[in-house]
Amino acid sequence: LGKWAKAMAIIKELEDKCGTPSAKLRQVADAMDVEMHAGLASEGGSKLKMLISYVDNLPTGGEKGLFYALDLGGTNFRVLRVQLGGSENPVVKPEFKEVSIPPHLMVGSSEALFDFIAAALAKFVATEGEDICLPPGRQRELGFTFSFPVRQLSIASGTLIKWTKGFSIKDTVGQDVVGELKKAMERIGLDMCVAALVNDTVGTLAGGRYNNPDVIAAVILGTGTNAAYVERAHAIPKWHGLLPKSGEMVINMEWGNFRSSHLPLTEYDQSLDADSLNPGEQIFEKLISGMYLGEIVRRVLCRMAEEAGFFGDTVPSKLKIPFILRTPDLSAMHHDTSSDLKVVGSKLKDILEIPNSSLKVRKVIVKLCDIVASRGARLSAAGILGILKKLGRDTIKEGEKQKSVVALDGGLFQHYTKFRNCMESTLQELLGDAYENLSIIHSNDGSGIGAAILAASHSQYL
Ligand code: ADP
Ligand code: MG
Repeated sequence: LGKWAKAMAIIKELEDKCGTPSAKLRQVADAMDVEMHAGLASEGGSKLKMLISYVDNLPTGGEKGLFYALDLGGTNFRVLRVQLGGSENPVVKPEFKEVSIPPHLMVGSSEALFDFIAAALAKFVATEGEDICLPPGRQRELGFTFSFPVRQLSIASGTLIKWTKGFSIKDTVGQDVVGELKKAMERIGLDMCVAALVNDTVGTLAGGRYNNPDVIAAVILGTGTNAAYVERAHAIPKWHGLLPKSGEMVINMEWGNFRSSHLPLTEYDQSLDADSLNPGEQIFEKLISGMYLGEIVRRVLCRMAEEAGFFGDTVPSKLKIPFILRTPDLSAMHHDTSSDLKVVGSKLKDILEIPNSSLKVRKVIVKLCDIVASRGARLSAAGILGILKKLGRDTIKEGEKQKSVVALDGGLFQHYTKFRNCMESTLQELLGDAYENLSIIHSNDGSGIGAAILAASHSQYL
């Protein structure tokens, strides 16, 4: 086999292995539905943890007052402040500050991470204008969005089950993360009350519901991926507490940890997983989310360079560095519409130090981006179909016009247009006529705003 033919054979094999025809996606959705039932039936009953959020009353739009939120995602964290106007004036204009998390803090000590977060929060509060004021004697209240799997103990406390997305701090696991934050706030003398601890999916759901009563689920496509939805309380066998008055409970699925024999896994996914900080875990997330898409492509390119001399006689040394190719770079190359694919050319040059790539090579790279991104997008659509199935909302019922709105957020969804379009068209393909009853909305900064709204509805002053 000639070198070019060998390279093409690697691409062809990848394309076959990543294939997601509708029949396969339906199997994935069915498996998701089955695992959702299992995870709700008993603790540890499934790879899907189906965590009880303690949010049994979603926002009505009538919430009022000045509230804060802290949103710790994966790459950045944000501090924000919102003035909620109540039902006459439900529009919120949040003010926020975004801070990137220094990588050494992701794998250091719990104290160091929370000290860093508390310091940023203190600075945010210290620099606010005099027009920002609370009623006299009132403590500042905060919603804490913490986008990692937490076993909630109440609406405002919960222990960390495990880290994901490149975080690995042993001494936080098993600890109450609100306790960790409070200790850090005390160490620097910041007086604030944590009124709600929420996952980003739960925050996004709450933020979406504040504006739209038909929101029934939220999905995050960012550094990681996850989903939350509104479940009927009596459909949660593992819940032994009092049945909430609303009859509902928001469930944080932790769908990133979903795994099924129907998932199209390749050798590249297997090696990526084996080399990760959490081997064997978060398999769905490793196929879909922003932290990993670029790295999958890098691994394929590496093999093409080694076995088929795709970039010439030597393997470019930069190509051997894990995570050097990031998903925003992938997205930029994938969206390149210039006739000579100059964006692809400059990414190859700037990131991988591969100068003068041919148009032929650049075209193959665009194709590669398409294979990997489409698989992720189509699998996320299958996940959403799984939720709709669980709720009996995947078909049109006789005489019913039941609207289902899913709120989406996260950098991948927001910025990777081809990913987002592919996910939406796949939902249409899978749902057929029932697609008319579904709306996908972008809930911008929903996770942080939602946490502030939940802080308002769980305020100590109510
Ligand atoms: P987090 O998930 O950490 O809370 P975000 O929701 O802001 O943060 O998502 C950030 C992630 O989104 C990045 O890690 C990256 O993978 C992805 N992302 C950001 N910008 C782009 C882009 N232009 N194209 C594709 N993916 C992007
Ligand atoms: Mg986030």
